[in-house]
Order: sequence, then C-alpha cells, then structure tokens
Amino acid sequence: MPKSINIHWFRRDLRIADNPSLTAASTDATVLPIYIIDNENAGDFCEGGASNWWLNQSLQQLNQSLNGQLYIFRGSPQYIIEQLCKSLNIDKVCWNRCYEPWQIKRDSHIKSTLVASGIEVCSFNGSLLVEPWTVTKGDGTPYKIFTPFYRKLGLISPRFISSAPNLSTLKKLPIKVKSTPIDSLNLLGKTTWYKKLEEHNSPGEDGAQNALNKFLESNLDSYQEGRDYPAKNSVSRLSPHIHFGEISPSQILHALSKQKASNNTEHFLRELCWREFSYYLLYHCPDMPTSNLKKKFQFFPWKNDSDLLAKWQQGQTGFPIVDAGMRELWQTGFMHNRVRMVVASFLVKNLLVHWHHGAAWFWDCLVDADLASNSASWQWVAGCGTDASPFFRIFNPVTQGEKFDANGQYTRHFVPELKNLPSMYLFKPWLAPKAVLQEAGIELGNNYPWPIVDIQESRQQALEAFQLIKELDG
Ligand SMILES: Cc1cc2nc3c(=O)[nH]c(=O)nc-3n(C[C@H](O)[C@H](O)[C@H](O)COP(=O)(O)OP(=O)(O)OC[C@H]3O[C@@H](n4cnc5c(N)ncnc54)[C@H](O)[C@@H]3O)c2cc1C
Repeated sequence: MPKSINIHWFRRDLRIADNPSLTAASTDATVLPIYIIDNENAGDFCEGGASNWWLNQSLQQLNQSLNGQLYIFRGSPQYIIEQLCKSLNIDKVCWNRCYEPWQIKRDSHIKSTLVASGIEVCSFNGSLLVEPWTVTKGDGTPYKIFTPFYRKLGLISPRFISSAPNLSTLKKLPIKVKSTPIDSLNLLGKTTWYKKLEEHNSPGEDGAQNALNKFLESNLDSYQEGRDYPAKNSVSRLSPHIHFGEISPSQILHALSKQKASNNTEHFLRELCWREFSYYLLYHCPDMPTSNLKKKFQFFPWKNDSDLLAKWQQGQTGFPIVDAGMRELWQTGFMHNRVRMVVASFLVKNLLVHWHHGAAWFWDCLVDADLASNSASWQWVAGCGTDASPFFRIFNPVTQGEKFDANGQYTRHFVPELKNLPSMYLFKPWLAPKAVLQEAGIELGNNYPWPIVDIQESRQQALEAFQLIKELDG
C-alpha cells in the first residue's frame, strides 16, 4: 500500500489542465481520481438526457487521459468517500467547488464529517473567474444588476490558471477499488436517440480546446456583429464544454488576453461574465431555479395549456423561426442564443406558459443545460428576474426572423418543408398567396401548421395579464 493517497473528486471539472484541485491532490501523494454519479442528492436536478450523453462521452475521454485510472461510482458521495477513506490510507480529499444549492449543502456536510474524522479537505475555485461571495456593493450586499456587477469584476483579479498536475502520481494503485465501467452507468438509456448528437458535438477536453482555437482563429473577429445571427458561425459553442469543466473560464480569459484588444474580445468577455452573473445570482438567491426573483410574479395568471406546450416542444407552432429553434434543439442538443430568447419569449408571453415548463424542456434537451444559466436566462426573458428584460418587451417571431435570418438559411435548414418559400413570406407563411404556397409545395394545416396563436391578440393578452400584477407591491 502506498504511503499516502489523496482523493481528487472530479465533478464539473472534467479536465486535466488548469485543475487546481487535481494539481493540489497530486503534488505530495499518489492521487486517486474519482467521479461519482450522484442522483441521490440532486433531486429534481439530475442531469437531463442530452447532458447525460455529453457526460458519458466526456468521462470516456477523461478516463483515457488518466490512462484508464478514473474510478467511477454511482450513489451517495458521502457514503462512497467515507468507505474509500476507511479502506484506504487517505490523507486528503480535494475537489473544485460547485455552486448549485444542493451541491453546496452536500459538500458542506461531507466536509464536516471528513474533517471530524481527521481527514484533510481542500476545496478550490475551478470554474468561475471570481467566487460569488467576494463581489459585493459598497454596502456589502450582493449586486442585482448586471452592468455594475460587470464593472466591479473588471476591478478584481480573476483566478489565475493553475500549474499542470504531476501525472506520474496517477499510477495504478496497488489496491483493489471496485469501479463501475462507464458503459454500465446507463447514461444513454435504452434507445439510440443520442446518435444525432454525435454529429454535432465533440465532448471532452480536446474538443473544448479545439472549439476555443477554432473560435479564436476564425470567429472572434466577427463576434460582436455576428453573434446575433444564427446562420453565421460567429459564436464559440463553448457552453457545454464550460458547463462540464472541460475548459475553465480562466483558460479562456488567458487565451483572450493573448489576442489583440478589440470590441469583439470585450464583447465575448462580457458574455462570459453573464455566466458569472448567473452563478452569482444562484449563489445569492438559491431558490432561483424554482421561484420568481420578482416575487409578485407568483400571481401571474399563467394559462399552461399542455397542447400548446407540446406544439412548442415539437417545433410545430406555425412560426418558422420558433419551430427552427425548437428543432435545432431536438436535433443537435444546442440552440443559438438569439433563438433561445425568441422561443422563450414566445412560450412565456404569447402562449402564457410558465417559464418552469420551458426551463424543464431545455434542461432535458440541451447539452449545455446549466442550472445557473438556464434559470437566470428564463427569468430574464420572463421578466421576473432581478435584472430582467421588461415583461412588455415581447419578441415578435416574424420580425425577429426577418431581421436575424433575413435570407432564411437557418430556418430553411431546420424547417425544410418551407425551403422553397420566398423569403418575403418565410416568417409568415399564413400571409402568402395560395399560388405561392402551392408553388413551394406547402399546404398549411397539412405539411406545415397554421399559427397556433394570433400574434397580435396573444401579445395583447400577455400585456393585460402583466397589467394585473404590475400594480402589486413587491
Ligand atoms: C432561455 C435561455 C436559456 C439558456 N440556458 C442556458 C443553459 O442552460 N446553459 C448555458 O450555458 N447557457 C444558457 N443560455 C445562455 C446562452 O444562450 C448560451 O450560453 C449560449 O447560447 C451558448 O453558446 P456559445 O457557447 O456559442 O456562446 P458564446 O456567445 O460563444 O458565449 C461564450 C460563453 O459565454 C457564456 N454565455 C453567453 N451568453 C450567456 C448568457 N446569456 N447567459 C449566461 N452565460 C452566457 C456561455 O458560457 C458561453 O459558452 C440560455 C439563454 C436563454 C435565453
């Protein structure tokens, strides 16, 4: 048995580089790298289907990078770690901090029991530029508005990238630890639905570095202007890599600092800081995933029509830009940010379906499903967040399509039944003359739906519903 063994518990840090906990665990001892599928503490926030697919691939890659030495378990981390500590000569348990409320609760409990039994516990910041508790207003209270928060971040030194771990300490342990093979974790379910995700995504630390390099080389220069146009290749598509910790924001910041300063780099950094803000809000308002941050929204008269929700989920609303986005999500596990805002506004405001239903669908379908960013963004669109888009700002799916997908490239790709419709009618096929529809091979109500709501009437209804709660206090 080796003299001393340190555990590094991989969580949302599925990478070797810039991993402060892995580096610390491997400096002075043999390191036992573990991953635990914890469905016991996650409650309603177990990974969704698309996330599980990503996780499965990412764990395979990580295990390869560790020469097959990743020890994987399923169950209660409290129990598993205690058992490991009892049966091995464990000195220290290290992890990078997670920020979801259930994770914070679980980790504090594990830490106190380990410390009580004489085992050292070291936790690190591995996934944020700055810890949420270190950023406050002059009076010590947390920020509620993004822009002053962002300005304050500019004054704080972000976490520096950490040195490489000593991989020679990852040698095979001369002890028997029963690890579950990744294929036996059943992360993929019984069908092969996930095959479609393979065509569009490359999980893993190498995939993350490739995505970053490609973005810096080809797309950063057009980011500010191009990021709103779903057909343009101007965004980084780093979000699932960042969510699973295959790359850290500090690594991205470091790479950005080597680029020439421009509005594009500044804008990209600002978006990364929206992620920081989402985590910040989640830390300071732990009920954000389940409760409106503006409390009076609990009185909002949602209609929650399940047929309309199903049509939205299936991309069968009759509004081409909405349907394109929902089908992009279903087919690729991703949706462009501009379109996320359009489909979310449509669900919450035109269909009057509670944002919880939209967030839950995204949670299951997105490869980048992230409790902080998903709930903060849905609250932002719904108008019930602290720094939200005002409720009366209702995206018009026709003009959004015409403006951000003017030649229809994105919409025609995901809604191929409309591919021959001239651009002037593409985002409002119900207004096209019969002959034009016929020429394009479209029969509304047959091979493409009529709009499921009247856009003006539904807008009016939303404004009236909002008026009801507007005068309430709080
Ligand atoms: C309704 C709704 C739900 C969303 N749900 C999620 C989610 O579950 N997970 C998620 O990562 N993002 C979510 N977002 C934010 C945003 O849409 C994605 O982060 C972005 O589209 C990811 O693409 P990208 O990596 O190419 O982004 P880029 O434009 O290249 O941005 C770089 C990085 O900055 C961060 N970022 C960018 N925009 C935002 C934002 N508005 N909020 C928080 N972080 C941001 C992401 O980490 C992203 O990878 C949601 C947005 C909306 C409107």
